[in-house]
Amino acid sequence: MLKAREAVLRLKEYHPPLGERSGMRLDFNENTSGCSPRVLAKLGSLTPDELAKYPERDSVEVVVAELLGLAREQVLLTNGVDEGIHLLCEAYIEPGDQVLIPVPTFSMYEIYAGAAAAKVITVQSDSTLRFPAQALMQAITQRTRLIAVASPNNPTGAVAGEQELLALAAAAPHAALLVDEAYFDFYGQTMLPHLGRVPNLFVARTFSKAYGMAGLRAGVLAGSAEQMRMVRRVGSPYNVNAVALACLPTALADGDYIADYVAQVRRGRTRMLRELDSLGIRYWPSEANFVLFFIGEKRTAFVEGMRRRGILVRDRNSDPGCAGCVRITIGTDVQTEAAIAAMRQVLLEIHYTDAMKVGR
Ligand code: PMP
Repeated sequence: MLKAREAVLRLKEYHPPLGERSGMRLDFNENTSGCSPRVLAKLGSLTPDELAKYPERDSVEVVVAELLGLAREQVLLTNGVDEGIHLLCEAYIEPGDQVLIPVPTFSMYEIYAGAAAAKVITVQSDSTLRFPAQALMQAITQRTRLIAVASPNNPTGAVAGEQELLALAAAAPHAALLVDEAYFDFYGQTMLPHLGRVPNLFVARTFSKAYGMAGLRAGVLAGSAEQMRMVRRVGSPYNVNAVALACLPTALADGDYIADYVAQVRRGRTRMLRELDSLGIRYWPSEANFVLFFIGEKRTAFVEGMRRRGILVRDRNSDPGCAGCVRITIGTDVQTEAAIAAMRQVLLEIHYTDAMKVGR
């Protein structure tokens, strides 16, 4: 009988709860109001010829590289950050190599590393859910081949310091250090300028979040020219489809649209934190377009109460170190006000008392 590889048999299945997502989407950290109207116009103008041809990635990579201040050889467009992670695992991991993953974090690092038969070593943050720089340093061995760090991190919103990341890259020159900057637009700090100097550093970006194009699947993986040549070898030349490629330059050109959306998210984040403060609910400081907070045992009732009011939020209880936690995406000004009003009502409805707010 046909049998999958041992590493595949051991893999956990990951099914993001995407079914029946009707309502205000504050559950997946996407852009909550959609892409630039210019992108929609571009979609409408696509010709049959553009779809009939195999997609041509190079010219768009030139545009993206220029915008990021990188050489063209340093940049690979990917089918979302997900594919960037997958390609790194394909290019660098031998069976039994170690992959260091600070947790809690985004699920796909563990999945792609596991599929490549790596030994995944998770490094748990303490109750502050801050980036566990010291513990990661101590976990580095000669077999470490990949260190995957989301900064800002999902689901916590915590960031890793520039010096901490540089120290990690220097301490593990035989490992790829991936800094996943999927939420860069809401934070504003980046490791990109270090790419020329740090040979084992990779930075990932996405058009799924601020740009509102998660459905098109487009991201960027950047690294040293030499290493990116290796990464290109393991990927398909047609990994990003023609529709996404046609839309990317248009999306990038509409800077005003992104600036307005990001400004709303940043305002909304401050507004949400102030509200959580006044409700006495514990939360973790976030540099991303979401906030993680502690509800405790009533979290299922909370998520359900929000859903009944047409607002989707995400139960993160099963993430390591996040027992009792819920994550809410921050969207437009109007959506933030609606979310806050609904939260107040739901907390009353579920009889959420001061006693339940204490500690974790
Ligand atoms: N990295 C992080 C940290 C994320 O939270 C997500 C989305 N949940 C991704 C990557 C996936 O990005 P993409 O849609 O570009 O594959």
